Amino acid sequence: MNERHAEIAGGGIGGLGLGLMLARKGWSVRIHERSPTIREVGAAISLRNNSISVLERCGAFEQLRAEGSFLLRERHFDKRGNLLQERATTGQRTMVLPRQSLVEGLAASARQAGVEIKLSSVVVSADPAGALIDDAGVRYPADLAVAADGLHSKIRTELGLRETIRELTTRINRYLVPTQEFTTPETKDEHWSGDRRVGFLPAGKGRSLIYTTMASGDGPACRLPLDVGNWTEAYPTLEPVFRLLRQQDTIQFSYPFVRCTGWHRGRVALIGDAAHAMPPTLGQGAGLTLMNSYALAELVSGSSDVATALRSWETAVREITEATQRWSLRYDRITGSLPRALNALRPHVIRTIGRFKPLYDSMRVADLGLPLIEQRVREASAARAA
Ligand SMILES: Cc1cc2nc3c(=O)[nH]c(=O)nc-3n(C[C@H](O)[C@H](O)[C@H](O)COP(=O)(O)OP(=O)(O)OC[C@H]3O[C@@H](n4cnc5c(N)ncnc54)[C@H](O)[C@@H]3O)c2cc1C
Repeated sequence: MNERHAEIAGGGIGGLGLGLMLARKGWSVRIHERSPTIREVGAAISLRNNSISVLERCGAFEQLRAEGSFLLRERHFDKRGNLLQERATTGQRTMVLPRQSLVEGLAASARQAGVEIKLSSVVVSADPAGALIDDAGVRYPADLAVAADGLHSKIRTELGLRETIRELTTRINRYLVPTQEFTTPETKDEHWSGDRRVGFLPAGKGRSLIYTTMASGDGPACRLPLDVGNWTEAYPTLEPVFRLLRQQDTIQFSYPFVRCTGWHRGRVALIGDAAHAMPPTLGQGAGLTLMNSYALAELVSGSSDVATALRSWETAVREITEATQRWSLRYDRITGSLPRALNALRPHVIRTIGRFKPLYDSMRVADLGLPLIEQRVREASAARAA
C-alpha cells in the first residue's frame, strides 16, 4: 500500500499515542493541538498492565520507565489509620508517573517516528469523507481523520455522535508533591472516612501523587485551598499531610462520563475521552485510550478500506471499554455515592469484590484485556481476508 495520511485533532495521550502507532505502521501523521505547548493538566497518572504493554509494543516505554514508580501492593486504611485490607498486585504491573512526563515522552517518540505536531491549531469539525477543518476554515484531507479532542470534543458534537455526557457528583483534587515522606515504597495506600478518601502513591524521582475525593455537596471538603481543620476531623492522623496539601496548587475535577452513539463516521474515528470518558476509579481512562488506539492502528493499517476497518475496530473494542465504564461507575457508587447511612458497608463490599476472583477479574477486564483485543483484531483481519 502507498503511504497513507492521518490528521488527528488533539495532542493528549490519545492523539499522541495513536499518532505514534500509525507512524510506526508507515503512515504520515499530523497532530493538531490547540495549546501552544504539549502539556497535561493534572498531577500524575497510574498506568496499568494494558497501558504498559501497549507502550512497550510501540517502543515508547523505555524512555518513560525512569520517570515512574512501580507498585506491588495496595492497602486500605480506616479513618484512624488502622489497616482494613492489603493486597499484593503481583503479576499486575502498575506504574505511576507525572502526566507531563507521559505526554512529553509520547510527543518525543512520535516526533522521532516522523509525526508532525502542529501547535496552536484548533480543529472545529471533521468531514466523514476524510478531513479535519480548522478554525480558519482550512481543510486538511486525510485517509483517516481522528477526533482525540477530549471530554468536551467539538468534533463529536459536529458529527452528531454524542449521546450522554455528564459530570458525576464525586470531586477529586490531585497533588504532585516533591516528597515521598508520606508514601511507602511500591505501595498504593488509600484511607477511607465515610464518603471521603485520601490516596498516596509514589510517583517516581522523590515525588508522590496524593489525592482527596469527596462528594460535590460536601462544601467544607471541596473548599480550596484545602481546609486543614475539616479534613483533620475526618482523618485525625493525617494532619501533617493536609498542612502540606494546603500549600500546593491543584485543580478540582469532577468524575466524567461520556457515551456515544458510535465511535466513527465514514473515515473519521473518535478516540479517548471524546468517545468514552469515565470516572478514574479503576485508573483505566488512558489505558483504554491507548489499547483502543493500538487496535485502531492495527486494523486500519491492514485494510485499504478505512471506513470498513473502523467499523470492525469499534466492534472489536467497544465491549471491553463499556464493561470497564460500568465497573468504574459501580466503584464510584460504592466508594462515594452510597447513602451515608451505609458508610460502614463500603470497605466490606470492596473487600468482597477483591476476594471473589471472577468478580475481581471482571472488574479488571481492561487490565487483562489486551490479549482479547489482539485476538479480535486477528479475527477481524481474517474475516476481511476470507
Ligand atoms: C481526575 C482524573 C484522574 C485520572 N486518572 C487516570 C489514571 O490514573 N489512569 C488512567 O489510565 N486514566 C486516568 N484518567 C483518565 C485519563 O486522564 C484520560 O482518559 C486521558 O487523559 C484521555 O486522553 P485524551 O487524549 O482522550 O484526552 P485529553 O487528555 O483531554 O486530550 C485532549 C487534547 O486535545 C486538545 N484539544 C481539545 N480540543 C481541541 C481542538 N478543538 N483542536 C485541537 N486540539 C484540541 C486538548 O488541548 C488536549 O491536549 C483520569 C481522569 C481524571 C479526570
